[in-house]
Amino acid sequence: MDSLTAGISLILVQFCIALVMAGVFYAAPSEKCTKYWALSGVWIAFGVLIAILNNRLNRPAFILNGTGAIMIGLVFQWHGIQAFYKKQPQKWGWAIVVVFIVLLAILVKLESSPQGRSILLSFTILLLLGLSLHAIWQGQNGPPKTFVQALAPSAIVLLMIGNVLRIVIAILQVSEYLPPTRSTFEIAVAYLLPTIGTVVFSIGLLLLYFERIVEENRHLATHDELSKLLNRRAIVASGEYSLASAARLQHELTIAFIDIDMFKNFNDKFGHAAGDTVIMDVATILQQTCRTIDLVGRYGGEEFLIILPGVNRDDAAIVGQRLVDAVDKYRFLGVHPVTISVGLTTLPKKDVCSWEQLVRRADAALYEAKGLGRNRYAA
Ligand code: GH3
Ligand code: MG
Ligand code: MG
Repeated sequence: MDSLTAGISLILVQFCIALVMAGVFYAAPSEKCTKYWALSGVWIAFGVLIAILNNRLNRPAFILNGTGAIMIGLVFQWHGIQAFYKKQPQKWGWAIVVVFIVLLAILVKLESSPQGRSILLSFTILLLLGLSLHAIWQGQNGPPKTFVQALAPSAIVLLMIGNVLRIVIAILQVSEYLPPTRSTFEIAVAYLLPTIGTVVFSIGLLLLYFERIVEENRHLATHDELSKLLNRRAIVASGEYSLASAARLQHELTIAFIDIDMFKNFNDKFGHAAGDTVIMDVATILQQTCRTIDLVGRYGGEEFLIILPGVNRDDAAIVGQRLVDAVDKYRFLGVHPVTISVGLTTLPKKDVCSWEQLVRRADAALYEAKGLGRNRYAA
């Protein structure tokens, strides 16, 4: 393969990636990462095109513009990864491009060997790829845990290896261990490795992006926006599952139905926004007071439901009192006391009942707690 064919294939790949990323960006413009990745593809494609023309014409301006454009593309790529992980893109990355162009201009002025320029080029690419790898590592909090998480970093490592090889080849050529002409191996290192690496890298980035969209939608479908707890649909589904599991394994199961006391008065006195804060804080208190295996959900306006697997009648009373006390001693917005009432019901071992029956019983217990004066539990 000659360098022209290899170079054109790299341009086409970069251009196609830019098109795909631009398409995804127009579908969801709030996600800035795809815009950066589209810009990156365009700049790198443009840079490689100029670099190929330079191979034919050998004009210094072409060398500067072409390789400069590739560096701009790599900075955009890095900024895109930072944006993907909700970090502010670091503007000092552009200083690397400026320093690179100045150094390259000096090398061109001094009419240094092409190997010197090749080493500078590969070293700078290595640096920018390293920044992208670091941003992914930081964003993922350490080494990749899934195949999708591993794909993009593996591709960067492949691209980095390609650049290390280019530096080695250039050094061997300077020290006359290798002929200065372009061997097939050198073309493969200069064009084919970047082509494969870029394709895998971009697929890896897109998969990460789609994986996150799916995860966010799943979270939205099962969680309540205000309290961040499971929403009604999710807590009911979990309840039905827990009930079936308790009956099958002959475990006890307790559910707690919770309602904030005199909440209408609170809203009337302090406003709806203050009321929303109380709902958020009560949700946090309930979650913190429960064990990790308990499931806490927002059942309605200011009503919550907790599923307590394996909790018997005696333990249920302890949990009920603990929940009431935890809310009672908290001061909402720093000053206001608010209380809750808790209705508890326990499904004994080897007993069966439907989810609806269980909720009805807990609701009746809650009604009893309200009748007994609120700020208490009833079972
Ligand atoms: P009780 O002690 O008998 O429960 O008295 P209550 O005033 O709390 O009565 P109820 O449970 O019927 O009151 C529900 C009130 O909760 C009505 C509504 O103003 C308030 N509420 C429901 N959902 C929300 C919400 O999302 N935000 C706010 N701020 N208030 C809500
Ligand atoms: Mg209510
Ligand atoms: Mg209430």
